[in-house]
Amino acid sequence: MIKYERPRGTEDVLPGPPDPSQPPEERIFRTDRWQALENTFRDVCERFGYEEIRTPLFEATELFVRSVGEGTDIVAKEMYTFEDRGGRSMTLRPEGTAPVVRAFLQHKLYGRARVHRFYYLGPIFRYEAKQKGRYRQHHQAGVEILGAMNPAVDVEVIHLGLCYLTELGLTGLELHLNSIGCPVCRPRHRTDLVAFLGGKLDSLCADCQRRYRENPLRVLDCKEAGCQRTTADAPVLLDYLCDDCREHFAEVRAQLAGMDIDFGLNPRLVRGLDYYTKTAFEILHGSLGAQNVLLGGGRYDGLVELCGGDPTPGIGFGAGIERALLALETEGQELRVPRRPRVYLTAVSQAERRRAQLLARDLRSQGQCVDVDCEGRSLKAQMREANRLGAAWVVFLREDELAQGRAALRWMNTGTQEEVALDDLLPILRKEEEKQRK
Ligand SMILES: [Zn+2]
Ligand SMILES: [Zn+2]
Repeated sequence: MIKYERPRGTEDVLPGPPDPSQPPEERIFRTDRWQALENTFRDVCERFGYEEIRTPLFEATELFVRSVGEGTDIVAKEMYTFEDRGGRSMTLRPEGTAPVVRAFLQHKLYGRARVHRFYYLGPIFRYEAKQKGRYRQHHQAGVEILGAMNPAVDVEVIHLGLCYLTELGLTGLELHLNSIGCPVCRPRHRTDLVAFLGGKLDSLCADCQRRYRENPLRVLDCKEAGCQRTTADAPVLLDYLCDDCREHFAEVRAQLAGMDIDFGLNPRLVRGLDYYTKTAFEILHGSLGAQNVLLGGGRYDGLVELCGGDPTPGIGFGAGIERALLALETEGQELRVPRRPRVYLTAVSQAERRRAQLLARDLRSQGQCVDVDCEGRSLKAQMREANRLGAAWVVFLREDELAQGRAALRWMNTGTQEEVALDDLLPILRKEEEKQRK
């Protein structure tokens, strides 16, 4: 017999309540939590005027190599790259922004309006080392704005991210902010940083020795204690910003303060991707240890041009869904979609079963949630099933009552039972549902 298991670093999201004895990192893989999170994210995005975009799960490898950058960890060691049967190199998307930009250019969306607001939800693939809170297929909620340079847009995106996490029910969020400059001001910093690191290569980790050659800015972002000690006094970009970047950053900070949004400056926040410019930000949550970044984003004013379009500013964020759900679990927050009340139709004889089938058809087409036994089980077994499903009502279809167009309706929460005309059933259920909603 062959036994199949899901691939390492992936998870199944299952219906039904979680087992309370499970650790929080396993309790998050329940459909109700995912649906509730997705609904909240969609709702917030709609209120901010963002429209959903869906791109393929794989793209030409070149798109990510060019945009994300050859020296990044993602391209160097985390991509799922394969040759398709036509000999083309393809990659499962390791991040969400480049595909949006690719679609934006391919469909010439820039011709339709000046500013474009997109949001997306979906899986992201990275070959991560196996460790707690790391997935090889993880899921992201993200937004991108293309075509807007104004600092007010940076503030809007940050505010949207905070609204989303706050409305999920999270507390204790921290906003960290930095500016990582632009192609005008970065080279001078890079020169000084390389000079600073050059004498200290022996005390950097193996990854940072590679970063030193390919993308020295990323050394500042290393989580290894040794590297953090070594780079404690390294030159930071904030001290090198050109006038344009400095003014932009000052305006972002002033507007955040004006909106009563607290933030902390973090000069070591550099983000993992090459295409970021100016504002970079992260929203952190205290309870998650090393994996505490719930949302990260920033400006990428050079990306559209890098992908072959006219210069077009952009800014966005990606927020891991698993991490947000885990933060909620560790905070003890319930997150679920309210389930609609269900009605269970019991029927035993052949005639009763036929009637139940028709009644289920009619009620479902009128918007009711209906369960009916399809396996010829006993009345007792059907009642057990109604209880297991959490039915709000049970309708007992019995031949003698059916002959008079009537049936018994039971309210499961109180046990009250009443004989009703079948013609009245739908209006009664609707009225009850209305009452529950209030
Ligand atoms: Zn600059
Ligand atoms: Zn390091």
